[in-house]
Order: sequence, then structure tokens, then C-alpha cells
Amino acid sequence: MRSLITGGAGFIGSHLAEFLIERGDEVVVVDDLSTGRLANLDRITGHPEFSFTEGDIRDEDLMAKLATEVDRIFHLAAAVGVMLIVKRPVHTIETNIQGTEIVLRCAAKHGLPVLVASSSEVCGKGTGVAFEEEHDMVLGPTSRSRWSYAASKAVDEFLALAYHREQGQRTVVARFFNTIGPRQIGQYGMVVPRFVSQALKGGPITVFGDGTQSRSFAWVGDVIRAIVGLIEEPEASGRVFNVGCDEEITIGKLAEKVRDMVDPGLAIVHVPYDEAYEEGFEDLGRRVPDLTRVREAIGYEPTLGLDEILKLIIEDIRGRLDASIRIDRPSDCGQW
Ligand code: UDP
Repeated sequence: MRSLITGGAGFIGSHLAEFLIERGDEVVVVDDLSTGRLANLDRITGHPEFSFTEGDIRDEDLMAKLATEVDRIFHLAAAVGVMLIVKRPVHTIETNIQGTEIVLRCAAKHGLPVLVASSSEVCGKGTGVAFEEEHDMVLGPTSRSRWSYAASKAVDEFLALAYHREQGQRTVVARFFNTIGPRQIGQYGMVVPRFVSQALKGGPITVFGDGTQSRSFAWVGDVIRAIVGLIEEPEASGRVFNVGCDEEITIGKLAEKVRDMVDPGLAIVHVPYDEAYEEGFEDLGRRVPDLTRVREAIGYEPTLGLDEILKLIIEDIRGRLDASIRIDRPSDCGQW
């Protein structure tokens, strides 16, 4: 089986590439290295079944060529991270919408199954207890950059489903909830690597808002097994699936957990949202996936609990800090 992974040098994409190579598949990665890093692919670089192309998914000639070389596409390339999205909304909208259009068009020409990575942001401010795939989307106003990401990912979902409905294309949408694991960096806002790197550097840990907002964090290894399961399940085609973990924790409690695992003496400080992101930033109070659909479709079950995952992440970031590998530009809040 030959897989093309767009965004394969990113956090989730690189774990997926390794998983497929270890399974004996052939893997082609395309990534523009804007947020992905070649170092993420170190373990498989040089492997005879692996190849890397630096390029933009909006380059239609390139994507058309790559589509002739594979049997299926995992489309993971996207603008990521709430901070990046707030700072670069044009880049976010264009990458997400044009990129997905091109990937789906090229895949359709060759009848390739495509998994489109979407985001729980699409659920917006939904008021349900756990977000189900069929819940209404409740987004904020267009004057708030954050919602451009949700809207662009919603267009991606519509497109993937439309290709299935209109052309019988095998497409499936995986709606990722917060995913964590080694290699994720905090530079673009992701809370877990930020808290861990802040703690390892002696603190303080920065909780945005009052810390009562909650999330549920999925192990990257579980997420990649889920997406491989979904692309390989014909019955999943033309549908949207939540992929994540349904164990909820407040951000305040998460900060305490990280502090206690690294050094119980560390300070935790609160930063107002306006200062952390932009004026009028709207955070989500609660975000938990309903996993019934993915459980029923492929028998998905999260395998690692938060404490176990945090241990692995602390080890990873400690190793990177010790090796003094600097990741991109300096940031005010710990990019490691
Ligand atoms: N957050 C925080 N401190 C940080 C980074 C993030 O308190 O240094 C909060 C953020 O405001 C949000 C939660 O952690 O409430 C999760 O943020 P992240 O950007 O990881 O994911 P998302 O907002 O997309 O769920």
C-alpha cells in the first residue's frame, strides 16, 4: 500500500508516516515545512520505502504528479495552532480551502481514497455536553479571526462529503480533537507542550483566563491508528468521525498536574485572553468529543491515560531542551 501524507513532517503526520513504514507500507510525504520539521522524520529518512518532497499542496502540478504515485491520501496539511491562526488569518483560510480543493481534485482523477483531517474547531461554541458529529455548528462572528479556521475546516468537510456524494469518491473526514504526544511544539499555542516546557524551564506556567475551560487530550498513537482504520473501512466513506479522547480536564487542573509532575514548587500565573491572543478573543469553555460513531465503525478505544502521555511528553521535551535544539523563532512563552 502506497500512502501520500500531506503535512507529513508535522506532529501527527510524522507519527503516521512512521507507523505506516513500520507496517511495511510505502510512504510519500509532501510538506512545505512552514510548521512541520524535517527532524520529525529522522527515524524514517533514508528508508527505502520512504520519500519526502518539499512543496505546497496548492501547487496543483506537484499534487497531480504525486497522486499518480500512490494508492491513497491522508490529507493532514493545514494551518495549525490557535496563535498562528489569529496572527495569520489569510494564510489559514487560503491553505485550508485551496489546499483541500486541490488534493480532492487530484485524488478524484485517480479514484484515490482520501482521509481529510478536520478539527473540533468546526463544532464551534456548541452547547451540547459532548460534541456529536451531527450537532449544529455555532461559530462566532467573522470579526474574530479564530472562527476563520473553523469556517475553513467546515468548507473542507463539505467538499470531502460532496466529492463522495456527487462522484462516489471514497472520502472520509476525521475531526481531530486536542491531540498530544512527543514532537508537538508549543510555538503556535498548543497548551500541553507549552506547560511542559514552561515547567522544565523553571516556570511560571501560564494559564489563560481563569483556567475553568476544559479540554480532553488524545494520545497521538491512538489518533493515527484511528485514521488508518477509517481510511481502510469502506463503510466509513462519506462520513465525519470525531477522533480524540473523552476524558475531560480543566486547563487549571492540567497546569497543576504538569507542575506536580515536574516540580511542585513552580508558580502558576493567569494571563487574560486579550493579552494572550487578541482583543475580544473567544475561548471555548468546554470541548469533549462524543466517540460513539468511531467506536462503532472501527472499534476505536483510547489506550493511554493523560498521566502516561504527560510522562512521555516531559521526557521528550526534556531531551530536546537538554540537546539545546532550538525550534524556530523565539517566543514569549516557550516554543519547545
Ligand atoms: N492555554 C493556556 N495557556 C497556554 C496555552 C493555551 O491556558 O499557554 C489554554 C487555551 O486558552 C485553551 C486551552 O489551553 O483554553 C487549549 O489551548 P490549545 O491552543 O492547546 O487548543 P484549543 O484552544 O484549540 O483547544
